[in-house]
Amino acid sequence: MSSSSCEPNAIVAIDGPAGAGKSTVARHLARHFGLLNLETGAMYRAFALKALRFAVPLDESKALEDLAAETTICLEPGEDENRVLLDGEDVTGLIRNQIVTDAASRVSVFPAIRVWMVRLQQEMGATGGVVMEGRDIGTVVFPHASVKIFLDAAPEVRGLRRYDQLGQRGDQATQPEEVIRNLRARDERDRNRPDSPLRPAPDAVLLDSTHMTLEEVVRAAEAIVQAKLGQPLSSS
Ligand code: C5P
Repeated sequence: MSSSSCEPNAIVAIDGPAGAGKSTVARHLARHFGLLNLETGAMYRAFALKALRFAVPLDESKALEDLAAETTICLEPGEDENRVLLDGEDVTGLIRNQIVTDAASRVSVFPAIRVWMVRLQQEMGATGGVVMEGRDIGTVVFPHASVKIFLDAAPEVRGLRRYDQLGQRGDQATQPEEVIRNLRARDERDRNRPDSPLRPAPDAVLLDSTHMTLEEVVRAAEAIVQAKLGQPLSSS
């Protein structure tokens, strides 16, 4: 557990593409600095799950907007990952498979969906004391965040990390090449959508983890946050 506490209303924004190590880094920073960890991707995933369940076409903006109007999504920060409630149902274990992953990246291109999500995320982080990870946290959700880190890595490296994660979850069905292909398609969509494309905020610190272990990335991120917030390092 954390023994250091940075300013209590700090907002730490972690953005970057899939597989760059955001979740590991965000989880560690939250523990280390005594902040809440909020994974915004889980919110897009939960909404995508609902769209799939209701067979709403993933390319129909108006239908998705109507669905969003009758949807509630709640993130409950936990020690390891966030608990995600979709209309009150715990869907945490249902949103990490490839079908939902792909659908999340599709529904997230629509401005109406993003406006809704951004508002929810701003409410959740309004009092500060959070590490928020996603794609547009430093650029759109909290452009005045205390610290912004943009984590990146070469696509092949991110793909292999994602493949290992899937294996750890017991999902052995997908081949590494397919994981890399899916990840590239998602990157392409995230980086090229007209609304809030994935890109570093001008004042973000860039951290390329291609040649780093996750442990090294975590330590580097910790040093960045500490330098920005001017807090002494703890021993965690
Ligand atoms: O981070 P994660 O992989 O869980 O995100 C799933 C998808 O949700 C991403 O591929 C991206 O399209 C979308 N997303 C987004 N903005 C965020 C977080 C996630 O567009 N802040």
